[in-house]
Amino acid sequence: MANKKINKRDTGKLLNQWSQEFTVFVPSKESGMAAMSKWDGKDTSFLDWYRNTVIPPKANFFPSMEKMFSFQKDKEGYHLELPPLDGQKQLIFGIRPCDAKALAILDMTFKDAYEDTYYLAKRKNALLVGLGCTNPCDSCFCTSLGISPAESPDVDLMLTDIGDEFLIEEITDKGKELMAMASGVEEATQADEARAKEAREASYNKVTRKIDTEDIKKKLLPAFDNQDYWEKIAAKCISCGICTFLCPTCYCFDINDELVKKQGARFRNWDSCAFPVYTKMPMENPREEKWRRVRQKVYHKYAFYPMLFDVIACTGCGRCIRLCPVNWDITQALDSVPAKSTA
Ligand code: SF4
Ligand code: SF4
Repeated sequence: MANKKINKRDTGKLLNQWSQEFTVFVPSKESGMAAMSKWDGKDTSFLDWYRNTVIPPKANFFPSMEKMFSFQKDKEGYHLELPPLDGQKQLIFGIRPCDAKALAILDMTFKDAYEDTYYLAKRKNALLVGLGCTNPCDSCFCTSLGISPAESPDVDLMLTDIGDEFLIEEITDKGKELMAMASGVEEATQADEARAKEAREASYNKVTRKIDTEDIKKKLLPAFDNQDYWEKIAAKCISCGICTFLCPTCYCFDINDELVKKQGARFRNWDSCAFPVYTKMPMENPREEKWRRVRQKVYHKYAFYPMLFDVIACTGCGRCIRLCPVNWDITQALDSVPAKSTA
């Protein structure tokens, strides 16, 4: 079936049509920080400034803090009240291919490893409308992970910037249904297809940061005990946890009970393996030294996760590079892994 196209100036109308059925999220600046936020019904200025969000779209499904249930105590004991699982139908417009892939990776954790009802309730009702990058950041290295910055099998619709218009590909049946709701779209012509192909190739070629992921797991495993190497690599990290909080594939969380007199609630909130207090309870942190924690971050993504799910848990989105306060760079760490352990 032929692809569709829409004039960019009609983006607002399209979002309005989808808003009839979905809560639409678009990139916007909250306190100066780009995140996917509820669309206000008119502002499409993100089309001019947006490269990628600081807070990844994982936060729409796995919020930084989430109430799991509330409880009350009386003479008979504790009574629990579960919040309604979020049945909101979300449509995330403008998600980048790297972040859509990250959600596919998170699905493995939250669906295949065990069923996380909080995450899955939100995820099953969501639609993703991808928008290809035209201007990837210097820190992006998605192509090294087999991801194109302008194409994605992990979204429902994929948009490519072809000048005054977006070319729209229907990737899934849900995407087709979305297009059936849309007015103001036209069939793309052969010339549009040619422009889209050119735009995708140009975008791919703009990702110049590369790492060699071939046999990366085999390369990493012998270096596991090379303390000298990991100490050197970890030296400038200040264990702030930003790289893990903002990583679209990181999923660690901690659970806390907040109790006032006889009632309270249980929350879960993002946690980070970069923190010295991580996994402190009920035993000591097995990674007390910083180099062990930095090593864990790299191995979890590039060795341990592939052992479990046969996929590298990194999409090359580059957030951990561009947002690290001390310019720690995972690509440098991976590039300089010694061929053999010297331990
Ligand atoms: S963001 Fe940088 S300094 Fe902070 S924990 Fe990550 S690597 Fe370390
Ligand atoms: S490890 Fe860094 S580059 Fe890879 S997905 Fe996480 S934030 Fe993005």
